Amino acid sequence: MVTAKEPQQQVKIGPTRLLINNEWIESVSGRRFETINPATGEVICTVAEADAPDVDKAVKAARTAFTSGEWAKLSAARRGDLLYKLADLIAQNIDELARLETLDNGKPLQDSLGDLQLVIACYRYYAGWADKVQGKTIPISGPYFCYTRHEPVGVVGQIIPWNFPLLMQAWKLAPALATGNTVVLKTAEQTPLSALRVGELIVEAGFPPGVVNILSGYGPTAGAAIAHHRDIDKVAFTGSTEVGHLIMEAAAKSNLKRVTLELGGKSPNIVFADADFDAAIAGAHDAIFFNQGQCCCAGSRLFVEEKCYDDFVAKSVEKAQNRIVGDPFDGNTQQGPQVDKDQFDKVMSYIESGMRQGAQRLCGGNRVGDKGFFIAPTVFADVHDDMQIAQEEIFGPVMSIIKFRDIEEVIQRANNTMYGLAAAVWTKDISKAHAIANNVRAGTVWVNCYDVFDPAAPFGGFKQSGMGRELGEYGLQQYTEVKTVTIKL
Ligand code: NAP
Ligand code: MG
Repeated sequence: MVTAKEPQQQVKIGPTRLLINNEWIESVSGRRFETINPATGEVICTVAEADAPDVDKAVKAARTAFTSGEWAKLSAARRGDLLYKLADLIAQNIDELARLETLDNGKPLQDSLGDLQLVIACYRYYAGWADKVQGKTIPISGPYFCYTRHEPVGVVGQIIPWNFPLLMQAWKLAPALATGNTVVLKTAEQTPLSALRVGELIVEAGFPPGVVNILSGYGPTAGAAIAHHRDIDKVAFTGSTEVGHLIMEAAAKSNLKRVTLELGGKSPNIVFADADFDAAIAGAHDAIFFNQGQCCCAGSRLFVEEKCYDDFVAKSVEKAQNRIVGDPFDGNTQQGPQVDKDQFDKVMSYIESGMRQGAQRLCGGNRVGDKGFFIAPTVFADVHDDMQIAQEEIFGPVMSIIKFRDIEEVIQRANNTMYGLAAAVWTKDISKAHAIANNVRAGTVWVNCYDVFDPAAPFGGFKQSGMGRELGEYGLQQYTEVKTVTIKL
């Protein structure tokens, strides 16, 4: 385990070309792009830049692997073995992968190691499912034998974001591979490196050529080529709601490929005065500041009951001021930089908007240091529902505290958003907990906890936070087609 300051030179970079058909190749155009270290703003290296012709090559490889290759003939149990092997290889290389994730994304090394525990658990969870995906026998009328088969969807395009590069790769690959699909995965432009290193481990694990193809490249080019491709059967996307609309539109305009979307959120985190106060303070802090605030399910609308509001605000400010921001390779660091300059600028503009619209900034709001993209943990009080910082996804270390009076009011206000990804409630009253759990329209509700993730528990959004579910048994449904077979007896 790494605790002390680690120079960047000690991080092994891994492959920087495209993985197509188990071969590492340059892009058709020969173009490459830079990926930077957000803690310093310096270039780490360049990586191959995929575009439509590379997507075509990858789709051809994936199609061949799906229809006629070794993969198509492999037993379900053997697919599970390969996923277990991949999980083992990731576990053996956990420190190296964590360093690479921290270098490219900026998240504290301890957080990268935490992500990797979930990554390994996700591959193992779906490895176990591989030979347990089964249909039904159905007693239809007449002299017939009727049954269903759960077959893979086919060639799957997967587009992932930069906030949890390795974890989002695992959430996408593991269920797709367990159910026998083949994949063309595009990484986010900010964080191409760790997924490519896992590509090496995928080859080492023994996955046949063409089963997993990994492309680094930009959204409007390589990403759009995936979304529009006529020989891709499904696209799974995680990212902004804005791009989610484009993905669905592309699917509709091309071949009606299946679409699953994991999009943004503006999740209400509701604290009643009867809650365990210290637990709620700590939970609300982590809910917004974890991962530099770059979480789709961040508790970004913190509703606090009037009776405990002033105390809660004071304690939250104190805690935010004590948060340790700095070198992500330092074992004491709790918060690293935002992922890039665009995200840094976007967060800073929301902070300005909060001040302009009359929210009370009680701490933070400023850049930290003179290089990289660090932002001081920021707390706004007296936030009103109609302010921009209460409506839009900031995706940064900005806590917005909103006062409420009673439960009916807070449920109505919690639901007053286009999003519905997650919600949480802090209370000792079981009736209030259930009322929130039942009435807030969100795909996940946490009670007296936050950000509890497990590969067995489904995750996804109501409303414009997405379509479909990832993880758990529900996640498998998104990667299979049901075939009904009827035989005359
Ligand atoms: P984004 O553009 O939605 O990026 C997510 C992924 O989609 C990336 O791989 C991106 O490629 C790709 N993409 C972009 N445009 C595309 C297109 N036209 N067709 C197909 N794929 C496309 O998100 P962002 O610009 O990185 O971040 C913007 C905001 O989105 C954030 O501030 C945050 O509010 C939200 N966000 C949410 C999540 C989440 O977990 N739900 C994750 C990240 C961001 P490139 O990397 O080349 O752009
Ligand atoms: Mg980077």
